[in-house]
Amino acid sequence: MACGSGYRDSVAYVIDRGACFSCGWCAEDCPTDAIGERVGGSVAYGVDIEWCIDCGICAQLCPQACFSYRPELQPAPAQLELAKQRARDFAAS
Ligand code: SF4
Ligand code: SF4
Repeated sequence: MACGSGYRDSVAYVIDRGACFSCGWCAEDCPTDAIGERVGGSVAYGVDIEWCIDCGICAQLCPQACFSYRPELQPAPAQLELAKQRARDFAAS
């Protein structure tokens, strides 16, 4: 997993963990590897704001419709650009 700062529900896409059955599709197909299983506790998926580029692929793929779009939680433009640049660097490496 690429992210190292933990997973927070602080980006525009929020996972309904009550509906999630941990299939892993969202994590597998996220282009920036921003979704991962939480460390510790029960199995649950979350989105890392430092890697999410707000593309929406996860929301389209989820068979349980777990993702809801919360525009009020969208990262600041500077944070989003930082995540995009990190994704570009990751893709180029
Ligand atoms: S695709 Fe949906 S059901 Fe599957 S792990 Fe992700 S949030 Fe959970
Ligand atoms: S919106 Fe895109 S980058 Fe963000 S978690 Fe979903 S698939 Fe990954």
